Amino acid sequence: MQSAALTAAAIPIAYAAWDVEPPDLATVLGFFTTENVAGNVTVPHKQAASRLCGRLTAVARVVGAVNTFWVEDGVLVGDNTDVGGFHNAVVRLRGAVPARTRIALLGGGGAAAAVLAAAAGWPRCEVRLWNRTHERAVALAARFPGVATPVRSALDALAGASLVVHATSIGMMNDEMPIDPFLIPSGADVIDLVYRPGETAWVRAARAEGHRACDGLPMLVEQGALAFERWFGQPPDRAAMWRAVGDAPAGASRPLGRR
Ligand code: NAP
Repeated sequence: MQSAALTAAAIPIAYAAWDVEPPDLATVLGFFTTENVAGNVTVPHKQAASRLCGRLTAVARVVGAVNTFWVEDGVLVGDNTDVGGFHNAVVRLRGAVPARTRIALLGGGGAAAAVLAAAAGWPRCEVRLWNRTHERAVALAARFPGVATPVRSALDALAGASLVVHATSIGMMNDEMPIDPFLIPSGADVIDLVYRPGETAWVRAARAEGHRACDGLPMLVEQGALAFERWFGQPPDRAAMWRAVGDAPAGASRPLGRR
């Protein structure tokens, strides 16, 4: 995806994956700082990377995780474009920034923190947060006072929600679903942060129930596009990025479903 954007922009830089073991992260990021390398960080390094950066953007500080970095005046700067990527995916699905919206959020990890950071910027939205490990939901909600309320069950989270966000790792490897699609409130929009070829089973089932729904691919492309903008100060060719992930180009939008 980034390689396609670089080619489209005629920027002669290689984007390559490095498989880094957790004990080696500090050494690798130190090397990148010396060599003026920019890039992305993914699971399981996002939180550790935020502790290793010399400077964090405000949003990376709020989320406590870094997915994008670059070097500025010899200092490693960490940012989190998952937040903006999720925001853009929601706007793409709903056609507008949510306002006065009740949101059900399933999950309590790093992705859920990015969702809460985005929701914190939306006018008068409240998030009911459910996670398998309740203590983790409580701790996460405490970081977003006035926005997030931890609840004891997924049903409590879903009550009255008009946007349902799934942010656990369920459904990554198989067709397991986080909750029965019949439990999604009528008319609610659905975003699954998980993505798989052909979309997740849960998104397909939610759409079959009449919900507008998308999986994590729009967020993936958008967080990558925002990272590109941070590195080069110019927007990438999103259509090229969409083609690279093997889906419909932006503009000729992927099916979002019907009501
Ligand atoms: P994480 O920090 O490791 O958190 C994992 C979450 O999944 C926790 O809430 C965990 O609950 C929950 N979980 C795992 N297995 C479960 C199970 N069997 N039943 C119920 N809950 C379970 O991971 P993350 O970074 O938040 O990522 C979560 C998902 O979001 C991943 O699938 C990732 O690929 C996706 N994601 C997508 C994008 C995108 O661009 N689309 C960006 C970021 C992440 P406990 O706390 O109880 O363990």
